[in-house]
Amino acid sequence: MKSSFSIGRIKGIQLEINLSWFIVFALVIFSLATGYFPQNYPDWDPVLKWILSGIIALLLFISVLLHELSHSLVSISLGIDVRKISLFIFGGIAQMEKEPDEPVKELKIAVAGPATSILLYILFILLANISAALGSSEVIIVLLTYVASVNLVLAIFNLVPAFPLDGGRVLRAIIWYLSGNLQNATRIASSMGSIFGYFLIFIGIFGVLSGIFISGIWFIFIGWFIIQASQSSYQNMVMTDIFNKIHVSEFMTDKVMTVNYYISVRELVDSYFYKYRFASFPVTRDGEVIGVVNRESIKELNKESWDQTTVGSVTDSLNDNLVVAPYESVSEAMKKLFSNEIGRVLVMDRGNLTGIVSRTDILNYIRIHSQFNQ
Ligand SMILES: [Zn+2]
Repeated sequence: MKSSFSIGRIKGIQLEINLSWFIVFALVIFSLATGYFPQNYPDWDPVLKWILSGIIALLLFISVLLHELSHSLVSISLGIDVRKISLFIFGGIAQMEKEPDEPVKELKIAVAGPATSILLYILFILLANISAALGSSEVIIVLLTYVASVNLVLAIFNLVPAFPLDGGRVLRAIIWYLSGNLQNATRIASSMGSIFGYFLIFIGIFGVLSGIFISGIWFIFIGWFIIQASQSSYQNMVMTDIFNKIHVSEFMTDKVMTVNYYISVRELVDSYFYKYRFASFPVTRDGEVIGVVNRESIKELNKESWDQTTVGSVTDSLNDNLVVAPYESVSEAMKKLFSNEIGRVLVMDRGNLTGIVSRTDILNYIRIHSQFNQ
């Protein structure tokens, strides 16, 4: 089952909602309609309470979206592409194509989100005041004030200096700017992230013990999430740093099994796929590598046609995303093999196949590295 689906595009950025978001959506509506409103405005019509709760949840959704969108637009304006924004259980994430390469860029991108949330806060407070002055109904004023305060909370929470929250990114940018050392800056900002995460868990446990059950669990959940995210983003950064320094030629597997262009698909399946269990093979014609054949393209074929079909007719020809040069960095290879469908790249040296790098190679390397560097 798909865990998220696209709801459209803004300026080339794909907007995606994770299914977990609907849990939050339902939870917000439910707790407002059955908790907050009945407690504070007992004489309001129950139907009105539900409608109002729905509108607030929707405005909350738009607020989070605008927050993420502002990160993305600043990022794009600084030359770092954003492919998609995912909204999930704790809010949203704008997926940047790469990390900023300068502290000032990181600072600008990080500040954009909370700045937007603060602007929204001011906007909704203004609207609430104007409505009050014009003598609008209490419902409208409560609605506007509530959405305003949600945006304020969004801004303040994100400004906590705990990586990977926005405030943590600001902290990292400042340390990075002052020390010139990105890895160190990330380590410090991530530790702050973990400390903040444990702090939230502590508050959560305290809450649960004193009977504030739902909020307590919520704090524990968010705390745990921040700890995970801070640690994995630090490890990511360390690994990227390592992979930037290793050349493909030192990393690749250099004995590569190739398949002849003219053999049948039947022979390919029996003598290669079953025997060696790789997901794909480079294809050679008259001694020259001309493309890659992978299991997925065979799956689409009718089995009866396997004997008559040659490997050549199901071969994907080489393209820039399938090939790296031996002197390039492993990071470069990684970008390609995580974006092409076959999960591996061919290492070509002036037209000759000298090796191959696969996703499994990368993941195994990371596993070994983390075992030796606890
Ligand atoms: Zn943000």
